[in-house]
Amino acid sequence: MSKKRVLITGAAGFLGSHLCDRFIKEDYHVIGMDNLITGDLKNIEHLFKLESFEFYHHDVSKFIYVSGQLDYILHFASPASPIDYLKIPIQTLKVGSLGIHNCLGLAKEKGARVLIASTSEVYGDPLVHPQTEEYWGNVNPVGPRGVYDEAKRFQEAITMAYHTYHGLETRIVRIFNTYGPRMRLNDGRVLPAFIGQALRGEDLTMFGDGSQTRSFCYVDDLIEGIYRLLLSDYAQPVNIGNPNEITIKDFGEEIIKLTGTNQKLVSKPLPKDDPKQRKPDITKAKEILGWEPKVSRADGLKITYDYFKSLSPEELKKSAYHKFD
Ligand code: UDP
Repeated sequence: MSKKRVLITGAAGFLGSHLCDRFIKEDYHVIGMDNLITGDLKNIEHLFKLESFEFYHHDVSKFIYVSGQLDYILHFASPASPIDYLKIPIQTLKVGSLGIHNCLGLAKEKGARVLIASTSEVYGDPLVHPQTEEYWGNVNPVGPRGVYDEAKRFQEAITMAYHTYHGLETRIVRIFNTYGPRMRLNDGRVLPAFIGQALRGEDLTMFGDGSQTRSFCYVDDLIEGIYRLLLSDYAQPVNIGNPNEITIKDFGEEIIKLTGTNQKLVSKPLPKDDPKQRKPDITKAKEILGWEPKVSRADGLKITYDYFKSLSPEELKKSAYHKFD
């Protein structure tokens, strides 16, 4: 029997590359696509020797076509950190609107099932805590995060429209803060920022007083949840994340302890519209997918720290923005 074929957009990114690995492991034929604006080929270079992997250097916001049968499309292409949205706001909007439209059109043509990467950002600065899938959110459309949040909200809407109007099989995962190897060291997100600073002997830049909370999920747990959701028959959005909530100040202290450095936390201005709290309600994922996270923050952080430590000094220094400065 021929292998099932899956197209993964954003294949060279943090999550996309882990998805490629997972589908290869499950004996799929994987077609990766990425325009490499924020992705990096080194995340998938180990796959290029495989017959069951192919890669297209292409912008999914432009017309896409893949020949042959296609069973699944996973749309994971998008800048995904606040610094990126500020640097490349138009591309962020385009990949969440034109990009998903292209994926849905291709899926309709091929009879493929589509899973989209949505985000806890659809809840904005949430007034309901923890966040359930029923909560509609509190998003500022014209704030710095608006380009990402509204693109992802549009992406959910158009995906649901293809489901109801065209009968397309669709899945929507709302991803909460996730970490692990292959995060971009300089993408501005808190974990690579703190670990990078500790490794360079700099103080850790805590935004505001650090009382804002996040709940961090290790990447392997997230990928397992996504895999289960894809194979489920549930078309409504599902939160996947780790409900273990921590303040950014306590998180910084954990990183200082983990890295064994003498750095301090120094307070920097809190960015505009920075959500004050975030924690997923994962009742649905538990009930529908039989999923919950397994990796403790202590274990996940250790693996991630070892990954960052293994990078060369040049990589440690390298700016994440050389590609579009
Ligand atoms: N943060 C911080 N220092 C940094 C980077 C981020 O204190 O150097 C804070 C940020 O203000 C936010 C939290 O850490 O409250 C998580 O930020 P991140 O950019 O990782 O993700 P998001 O805000 O999208 O959850």
